[in-house]
Amino acid sequence: MKRRTLLKSLPMLAVLPLISACSRQVIGEAVSPIVALNKPHKEWRELVSPRAYQILFEEATERPESSNLVYEEREGTFICAACYLPLFESAHKYESWTGWPSFTQPVAGHIATKRDFKMIWPRTEYHCVRCEGHQGHVFSDGPPPRGERWCNNGIALQFVLKEEELPALRG
Ligand SMILES: [Zn+2]
Repeated sequence: MKRRTLLKSLPMLAVLPLISACSRQVIGEAVSPIVALNKPHKEWRELVSPRAYQILFEEATERPESSNLVYEEREGTFICAACYLPLFESAHKYESWTGWPSFTQPVAGHIATKRDFKMIWPRTEYHCVRCEGHQGHVFSDGPPPRGERWCNNGIALQFVLKEEELPALRG
């Protein structure tokens, strides 16, 4: 890659300043403290679908347009498909045209990020703070004011309509 091309592409690759300093960071502060489950990943195998297991606990990524949640526009809450912790609100969902459900911010204190070096350029992976299930990657090309794009695997989430009760957390 030419140096000039490299420099031009750097702003696109720049990750959020808040996650650059250390490897794991909880985003925001939870309304009530979340107790991490520390449950061995393999114990989730019986509780989630095989595909969800691959995404949540083997860090796979679904193909774009794999999930109906890409098109979910109703009011409600997106919860972790493993432990049911609320991770995103519909108010923060937006159409990113990527084929993955995308959000401008997570529920405060319910998501933690860490650096992912699987590709040439480091990316920022994020996961549920309670069960450590992998959810997606966060990028800095989202809409204002925060400029964040939380790009989530739809299969790693479940949607609960606003008028329905959230399920009890499981673990
Ligand atoms: Zn979870």
